Amino acid sequence: MGNPTKLEPNKQLDWKWQSRKSLRSLSDFEQYFDLSVDEKKAFAYNQDLFQVRATPYYASLAHKTDINCPIRQILVPQFKEVEAYKTQSLKDPLAERQNNPVPRIIHRYKDRVLLLVTDFCSVYCRYCTRKHFTATGQAVISKKDFHLALDYIYKHSEIKEVILSGGDPLTLSDEKLDELLYAIKGIPHVELIRIGTRVPTVMPMRVTEKLVKILRKHKPVFLMSHFNHRKEITDLSSQALELFVDHGIPVMNQMVLLKNINDSADAVYELSRALLRLRVKPYYMFQCDPVVGTEHLKVSLEKSKSIQRELWGHSSGLAMPNLSLDIPDGGGKVGIVPDFYQGSEAGTHFFVGFDGVKGVYKDPVE
Ligand code: SF4
Repeated sequence: MGNPTKLEPNKQLDWKWQSRKSLRSLSDFEQYFDLSVDEKKAFAYNQDLFQVRATPYYASLAHKTDINCPIRQILVPQFKEVEAYKTQSLKDPLAERQNNPVPRIIHRYKDRVLLLVTDFCSVYCRYCTRKHFTATGQAVISKKDFHLALDYIYKHSEIKEVILSGGDPLTLSDEKLDELLYAIKGIPHVELIRIGTRVPTVMPMRVTEKLVKILRKHKPVFLMSHFNHRKEITDLSSQALELFVDHGIPVMNQMVLLKNINDSADAVYELSRALLRLRVKPYYMFQCDPVVGTEHLKVSLEKSKSIQRELWGHSSGLAMPNLSLDIPDGGGKVGIVPDFYQGSEAGTHFFVGFDGVKGVYKDPVE
């Protein structure tokens, strides 16, 4: 593992200490890891990279020497991030900037908007989809931009859900979150708020009773957690997840399939079962977006489909995350299911199940 002895035992449970002491430079990372030549080289090209940052807690979960450790690959940059790519390499793969009617609002789907409340995260995941915004020094939403966002939501009565995103919304103070949630819930047609966050994974000590009570006050608030690997589930992150659930906040997990990190049915299954034991529903399993600097972490779609097919036959529906892909350049999210349907003829539909058993389904006679 990384070097937990670098943690100060009496302070490591203080999230503000975790944030202050985050690893940001080559020398910080060298205190935790025996870096490979390739990893060191990445730091030398710092200006071309997506920012580097990790909490001491999250770094301590990664392996000190093994460059193939899943957590290490998520947080330590590789030189491959700055190399030219053979296929797609997009700064804004979801074309969010084309669906950005006012600052900080992304409105792609009719009944919901994303509200980017901060560009800051406690850890910068190397595969991040939103590199066009995250870690770009834009900080917490200003009063002016928040009022513009509220005004936009207010004028669009079709918006039923507001998804707080970023960056990571749970890096804001309790007071700021309370203020934002109160204002958003004050809009009559907003039915619920979702919060997308990696905080339970990378800085679980941030999840306090005070925080969850604030979220509960503005119910319904759904928490979209983001665990990619079973190793990320520790006693502390388990306590954080259970605190949300115990306070009536539904938690759904979104993961990204990543090469050599979690790209096997066993890895997904193990994570899903661990989440379910904590009452967290595995929700989405995303195909990695073709974002700049991420080529080496992408899994082929064929492989993702084979993982899903294997899971289909061997895990319960509760444990099954939905494989989903965002069509590059703003085509939106599409669900991908194994090819069970084989076609039809005169009202008879042909199927082959996950283990090869064939059968037909007949339409009713009109
Ligand atoms: S926490 Fe989310 S927004 Fe932040 S770097 Fe990771 S994937 Fe990107």
